[in-house]
Amino acid sequence: QQQLAQQSFTGDATLSDGTPVELLANVGGGADATAAAEAGAAGVGLFRTEFSFLGSDHEPSVDEQYAQYRPVFDAFAGRKVVVRTLDAGADKPLPFVTDTDEPNPALGVRGFRTTLSSPEVLVHQLEAIARAAADSEAHVRVMAPMISTPAEAERFATVCREAGLETAGVMVEVPSAALSAPAILRRVDFLSIGTNDLTQYTMAADRQLGALSGLNDPWQHAVLRLVAETARAGAERPESVGGPAPVGVCGEAAADPALAVVLLGLGVTSLSMTARALPRVATVLRTVSADDCRRLAALALDSEDAEAARAAVRAELPVLE
Ligand code: PEP
Ligand code: MG
Repeated sequence: QQQLAQQSFTGDATLSDGTPVELLANVGGGADATAAAEAGAAGVGLFRTEFSFLGSDHEPSVDEQYAQYRPVFDAFAGRKVVVRTLDAGADKPLPFVTDTDEPNPALGVRGFRTTLSSPEVLVHQLEAIARAAADSEAHVRVMAPMISTPAEAERFATVCREAGLETAGVMVEVPSAALSAPAILRRVDFLSIGTNDLTQYTMAADRQLGALSGLNDPWQHAVLRLVAETARAGAERPESVGGPAPVGVCGEAAADPALAVVLLGLGVTSLSMTARALPRVATVLRTVSADDCRRLAALALDSEDAEAARAAVRAELPVLE
């Protein structure tokens, strides 16, 4: 394990058969982005914009937002940066858009749902992102958190286009979004699966409760099934609506090397994780072919529970011994 963690990573991630793999970083701001670029990330798969404004009681101005976004884009000039619009609520309260007295915040007005009461906050944020993107060399894309229906995806894509941001996607972190992925992909250009929340909502287990960590496990059969369905919707998107669409994973699951293998085998097209995890994941991916990934994904899906799936896949990856 020690040896694995110390492997160097130059940014080129491939499987043993030469298949390229897009390994991206999750970042919360400029300092993270600089570290991620140094660590060899091919781009940013999740920029958590709310991290800059946690606890703030007033909406940051467009200029203040620009100042937060621009350093992230500059750290990845010429490369992809996926910006998530404010994911306010539950574990990330932003008092200027969320009601912190809600009885059940994880099921409340959070993420994209805050546009019901404060639509102007999204419009201002997209303006700041568009300005910072225009002044930088990064390939900036935007995505919305906590999307539950195709109608929400459509509304997000429309507001993005009005802001001059042509490439828009949504996160899949609610089971309804995974099940509606084909319809959602008729409205947006890509999907990014947030396995932290997708696991919480699939298993009905609060992600912040250590006592429920056994349920809150992305190796759970039902979670893997939803990932597989979502990836399939991307691969099978009809030519009439743009053809195959990228479907990434940006939850912590991508940082588990054995699960990263399974996710690729389920058809996921990119993996985004904390930059620290990149070398270890890249090292394990170099030991498997695309066929191995598909075989191990089938093995995981055939297992009855999370423990069995994890054990079966790990037993097939000698590099993890
Ligand atoms: C997720 O839910 O998996 C995700 C990536 O978003 P966050 O952890 O910020 O909720
Ligand atoms: Mg989430």
